[in-house]
Amino acid sequence: MEEQSERGVSGETVVSRIDFDIEWPPKHAAAYLIEEPAPILIDTGDPEERAEATIREGLAARGYDLEDVEAVVVTHPHSDHIGQVPLLRETGATVYAPRPVLEQLERDEADLAAGVREIGRSAEYHGEAIEREIERAKSSLERNRRLLAPEEAVPFEFDEPFTVAGREFEAIHTPGHQIHHASLATDVNGERVLFSGDVLIESFRPGAIHVGLDYGAYDAVDAFHRSMDRLEGRAFDRVFPGHGPVFTDYEGAIESTRSALESLTAETLEAVTAVGPATPREITRNRTGEVRHPAQLLDTLGALGTLEGRGRVEYEDRDGVRYYSFKKASP
Ligand SMILES: [Zn+2]
Repeated sequence: MEEQSERGVSGETVVSRIDFDIEWPPKHAAAYLIEEPAPILIDTGDPEERAEATIREGLAARGYDLEDVEAVVVTHPHSDHIGQVPLLRETGATVYAPRPVLEQLERDEADLAAGVREIGRSAEYHGEAIEREIERAKSSLERNRRLLAPEEAVPFEFDEPFTVAGREFEAIHTPGHQIHHASLATDVNGERVLFSGDVLIESFRPGAIHVGLDYGAYDAVDAFHRSMDRLEGRAFDRVFPGHGPVFTDYEGAIESTRSALESLTAETLEAVTAVGPATPREITRNRTGEVRHPAQLLDTLGALGTLEGRGRVEYEDRDGVRYYSFKKASP
């Protein structure tokens, strides 16, 4: 917890932060407590057992018990943000999530398997590797369904104000990192603030995970740009991100996210030029040295989709596998 002021003093609303230790970079995930008579938690950390202690201790440091939390609002259904939703639900909090997130949890598993198979194959996964990816996707769907429990959550709509425990939020639809990601805007003590989840982080560009290895994977980078389009032109005094420090240079973060997306796209084009015609996996290997994390492949798929849309690359489909090559820009 970073804020030092006493709760309730002078009627000021305090936003305090709870940091969860997670295994992958940047090694932490943040949840935020809006301290008001009916406290609201934005995101909930990861599902590991120690996260329960983290949340209890984080609340206790501010003088609250779990039972005091009136509502939970989630930005997107990744495990490091929805991990402790069941705990908060048990202790009486009402859980709010974007409507399409809740609908997506009802996804038919056979359709998910077909999506992973088709897109995985296009990227040059075969045999056991495909089956592994299908299992991974299914178990993450099941886990998310268990954590968020769609039938018990309250849906909210994008681009329409909604009220949680007396506080008004606007949910801006910001896909690219996750297809149904919400960035939550609200007013705190006369400041316009944004809970940006994993779409706007000052210290690095979040992965273009979007849908994972599934139908739509090639749209990830375009979708990320659309998010930046939606955020641009708005004004926020302070941003509370899902990772990295709280920051005030809102426009700077949009600019650096865009330029990081452009660097990814340029590196991908360079890799296609160097090794094409090549599969997305080969292109990823050329771009990153070695493929250590699925997110690197997903970044590549998103960048290839963008490059194709811009007429810079084309691909030949050989038995479901895509072979990309450089396409001279048309005059
Ligand atoms: Zn995420």
